[in-house]
Amino acid sequence: MRYISTRGGMSPKKFSKILLGGLAPDGGLTMPETYPALGPAELETLRGMSYQQLAFEILSRFADDIPAADLRSMIARTYTAGSFQSEEITPLKTLEPGLHILRLSNGPTLAFKDIAMQLLGNLFEYALEKKDEELNILGATSGDTGPSAEYAMRGKRGIRVFMLSPQGKMSRFQTAQMFSLQDPNIFNIAVRGVFDDCQDIVKAVSNDYAFKQRYRIGTVNSINWARISAQIVYYFKGYFAATRSNAEQVSFAVPSGNFGNICAGHVARMMGLPIRRLILATNENEVLDEFFRTGCYRPRGASETVDTSSPSMDISKASNFERFIFDLTGRDAAKVKELWQAVDNGAAFDLAGTPLWEKVKDFGFVSGTGNHAARIAIIRKIRDQYGVLVDPHTADGLKVGLGHREAGVPLICLETALPVKFSESIIEAIGHEPARPAGYENLESLPQRYVVMNADSDAVKAFIVEKVQAS
Ligand SMILES: *Cc1c(COP(=O)(O)O)cnc(C)c1O
Repeated sequence: MRYISTRGGMSPKKFSKILLGGLAPDGGLTMPETYPALGPAELETLRGMSYQQLAFEILSRFADDIPAADLRSMIARTYTAGSFQSEEITPLKTLEPGLHILRLSNGPTLAFKDIAMQLLGNLFEYALEKKDEELNILGATSGDTGPSAEYAMRGKRGIRVFMLSPQGKMSRFQTAQMFSLQDPNIFNIAVRGVFDDCQDIVKAVSNDYAFKQRYRIGTVNSINWARISAQIVYYFKGYFAATRSNAEQVSFAVPSGNFGNICAGHVARMMGLPIRRLILATNENEVLDEFFRTGCYRPRGASETVDTSSPSMDISKASNFERFIFDLTGRDAAKVKELWQAVDNGAAFDLAGTPLWEKVKDFGFVSGTGNHAARIAIIRKIRDQYGVLVDPHTADGLKVGLGHREAGVPLICLETALPVKFSESIIEAIGHEPARPAGYENLESLPQRYVVMNADSDAVKAFIVEKVQAS
């Protein structure tokens, strides 16, 4: 399997060559040259497999330059009952016949991002060791990405993590998740500013090409192809758990922000998984819903992005969306380049009335938007009706998913975080705090390790230099 860029400007490369990188050199996203096709016989074989076996069958098709034994061993170390609370890794919870929640949030930071990130930690360590190289991951977080990246990279040889967060702006739970880590390769930097300041610092440091090369600065953002490929696995797992035969179709409802999670569902469908609908749910930041309703993709700026009670979806420019448009255009890189010329200049593109818009329906997408009142109502309703407590992001997925539910088609709603991370909304919905999973009871009272800095990229660079030289 080789990888190309959505904008056509990268010579084909193997998986290991794109693993550690971010954007392709031409500014596009990396994509497999073709999708591996799984026919009826292969689906039949996959149906009986454990999560780990399934992960190997899927990932070995994308990462075919990693020796099978090495990949198997990384998968075995990543997907354990110890890390994910069950042998099934992503168990299916049936609310009623034909309505399910796929539990993706039982990893170390209680959000679905752990599923891909935990594997990424092992893949990165493996690749760096082979090349005898180091990597300094610089990131900015306002919520789930930071903890997930730190728990994946803690204690990994050759890797340091420098994570910027806006001081005092994350929930106490999320702050404590990150700041309580005592691993010497994890550095938490609380920035006197807002999330955009943190992101600006990451951009400024990354744009200093000499610094970036010299100090081996990298990222773990959601455009990383390895993350997408690891997420494909649970679509298969969920499908097999919700059906008895491969003649059946299911629909998935996916709480979405950067289009990473649902992009993995799109790839699973392209590979031959019998998915009827991919139901995309946004919150009040409804840029993706607008596209799937009208054909117009109009990313918004920071000033038009609203703070909501499903904060991990407060995204107005969906970084993985270009991957879908690449497939929609029949993999026409010149067309993608033209469309993103507009996007990169802060403008919109509109496919309404063009032949491309007609084709969108062939890809199974439908969409909808949630809002605060609906989230609270759904959390209460699902608790009252089924005795199950969901978080506000999962609630957006359920709300939009139920709106598109079809008789006779099982609906699988993806659970993207546990309610304990967002206790304010839970209290509003049901009147008391959600129960805490074992091991998290005293999280906020653990000793914390972090530094505070001004929103100043030079200060952050100096800090990185100091830590790299000290070890
Ligand atoms: C990241 C995240 C999302 C959005 O996922 P994308 O892959 O960015 O679409 C939804 N819910 C939660 C809880 C998240 O952390």
